[in-house]
Amino acid sequence: MIADEERGPAGDGASSRNSTTKRSSNGKATREPGIWLLLERLKAEDRSRTHFKYVARCPFHDDNDPSLVIEYKMSSRDEFKDGRRRLVAGCGVCQGRPVAAGRKVNLATVAEAVGMTVGEALRFCEDLDGLMPERSGPDLPEQAAIDWWHFNLLFYSDLPEYLYTKRGLSRATIDDYQIGWHDFRKRYVIPVYDDAGALVSLRYYLPDPPQGQPKMLGHKGCPVTLFPTLPPSGPVLFCEGEWDALLLRQHGFPAVTTTGGKGASLEPWSSGVAGRHVAYLYDVGAEEEAEAHARLTAFHARSVRVVRLPLPFEGDDVTDWFVTYGQSAEELRLLINRTLPLGSGRRGQRS
Ligand SMILES: [Zn+2]
Repeated sequence: MIADEERGPAGDGASSRNSTTKRSSNGKATREPGIWLLLERLKAEDRSRTHFKYVARCPFHDDNDPSLVIEYKMSSRDEFKDGRRRLVAGCGVCQGRPVAAGRKVNLATVAEAVGMTVGEALRFCEDLDGLMPERSGPDLPEQAAIDWWHFNLLFYSDLPEYLYTKRGLSRATIDDYQIGWHDFRKRYVIPVYDDAGALVSLRYYLPDPPQGQPKMLGHKGCPVTLFPTLPPSGPVLFCEGEWDALLLRQHGFPAVTTTGGKGASLEPWSSGVAGRHVAYLYDVGAEEEAEAHARLTAFHARSVRVVRLPLPFEGDDVTDWFVTYGQSAEELRLLINRTLPLGSGRRGQRS
């Protein structure tokens, strides 16, 4: 008798939290280097909760009232005719005047004034289009940065509140998975680790993004992977999206999602579920996609189920199951276990 046969496709309800969650060895949160070091050296102050804007005393004139602005400009107006985003520095007093060997106030001259190169200052700003040279692999932050973002999230009381009330997540889940608030991107950040516990990707989320921006953003250069990591054995529950996966884990389900968003293929992981019970629990209205994905793994898996959430509205998801409709984990477990596997009835004995 194989253990996961007994446990059924919904798991045994035991905690399935990511066993590879990483913590810093010294527990000390420090600022990410790069732009943070520049801002620290300038003693810059954060002037916006919604976007990246810092002010500091200008190093090029006798500045009592901070007039140096370092800002991540999102607009396509004025100097950004190509519509790309730029991190810029400017001083309202020195504006246009040559300040350093004939050069004007800009990010490069400001960085040099505090003993950095512009490359050092922009080390983790790889997503600022057009500023950084092409890289071969993703430039991932150090653990200290993840600790810092996590600290940041807990520091502002309204930030975890969203995760508690709208996402149903507990403090323990937020801690275990090191969910943070990225103070540069002004987005929630979800670190993604591989089986060996190495950081492989980051996901950045904003519930109500400005028009034209997606809610979830990836980290440049990172491959699509599973989140959290595939449980080493036993059943697997595929769901849609990182928040749903976290909430399901919190309730003891062996849930995973891809970091590729809607439409990402599960094919690369189909062999990882060989011989295991697999279920797909997608949003209401996405059952066809769930079935297509289920068929991909049907050959390898011991059994494959496509679970339909009995919720009223298209787009209702497993977070709604718990948070909006107040349904329990036990009811979900029953729903999964009562769903007939694909092709049941004509399935032969497989060795
Ligand atoms: Zn100035």
